[in-house]
Amino acid sequence: MALRCQKDSYLQEFVSTVESCEVASEKINGSKLSGYHVILADTILFPEGGGQPDDRGSLNTIPVLKVFLKGDKGVHFTQVPIDAGTEVNIQLDWQRRFDHMQQHSAQHLISAIAETVFNFNTTSWSLGESVCKVEFNTPVITNEQINQLEELCNQYIREQRPMYPTYYELNDPAVDKIKTRGLPENIAGPLRVMTIEGIDVNLCCGTHVSNLAHLQVIKLLGTEKGKKGNTLLHFHAGKRVVSALEKSLNIERQINTLMRGSPTDYPDLIKKLQNSYKSASKNSSNLLKELVGYEAKELSSKLKESNSKYICHHRREGEIEYLLSLVQKLTCPEHIIKFITVGDDRGAGNFILCGVETDVKELAPKVLELIDGKGAVKGGRLMGKASKLSQKHKVEHAIEKYLESKDATNS
Ligand SMILES: [Zn+2]
Repeated sequence: MALRCQKDSYLQEFVSTVESCEVASEKINGSKLSGYHVILADTILFPEGGGQPDDRGSLNTIPVLKVFLKGDKGVHFTQVPIDAGTEVNIQLDWQRRFDHMQQHSAQHLISAIAETVFNFNTTSWSLGESVCKVEFNTPVITNEQINQLEELCNQYIREQRPMYPTYYELNDPAVDKIKTRGLPENIAGPLRVMTIEGIDVNLCCGTHVSNLAHLQVIKLLGTEKGKKGNTLLHFHAGKRVVSALEKSLNIERQINTLMRGSPTDYPDLIKKLQNSYKSASKNSSNLLKELVGYEAKELSSKLKESNSKYICHHRREGEIEYLLSLVQKLTCPEHIIKFITVGDDRGAGNFILCGVETDVKELAPKVLELIDGKGAVKGGRLMGKASKLSQKHKVEHAIEKYLESKDATNS
């Protein structure tokens, strides 16, 4: 026996009676919820089946979180019990359902045309929250085939072809002639066949539009490689096409404001941006090179004045090249310990610790620990990335302490 939602898929409100209500639990969005399985005499809430997700709605304003089929009855999962014998007003989340009707009916149309025109058989399909996919038993679908398929789909929509269900008893000889595109048929009772007038006859338990005009439009979005040499074709139907266009237009408006131009100007504007970026980064790298010279001089003379045995220096801007170049330009003896950092004062960046190899090897573990750094000592140099430059002052203390203890040992 077919459910009310299959007989009249446009019914958004319906009164029925509770036949049973049992304590149960269900997994909803990954978490296990306790509640009740409510079985009604009949329902307008579609249970999952034929690739179509289940409906949402309410029973006397109590939300229905899941619907599935048991035998020929729909089971409604709620978190509030409803006594057997209670009359309930069933309300359907129509927006969600009509979207499913548009996508599912569009899949029937796409599959039928692909089979008739290109001999591609549908092996499966999925109705996703953001995109729907039909899988065909072909390794390739060309752009020309996609265009032709899309054009034919929209032509049939314009022709306003009716779509309707017919029911056959299992022993009806007519059933043998009707195909089921490998899609599961899990509704018990008489067989339900969906017809798109003059285009397709196919076994299906889902809820469908009554006329292709209700699909509004179909947009094929592109393909993706499927399993076993199959190809997945992505599509949007109905309101999803309008929503996707609106989303694209919003992004386009934001880009227009940022680029100060319209899409036709994008190639020129992007070229200009690339050129100005190139020249800006060239200028900045030249300036940094000059700056390194001045800084090396200043640090070297300060070192002489202070008679210190180490240099600690940080610069926010700069890359590894800056570190290497500064170390190279410093005019101080090798035994002076140099710890130079670049990057975010409170976050991540690059560092170099150099001097006499024995000193660097001694200091390396402590330095890496303090600034959460990664790197290896190589010929008097420890260089790498650090994620805690905020702790660089502690490295300075560690160097001071190390030098003090070294002096104490030597004296
Ligand atoms: Zn179907």
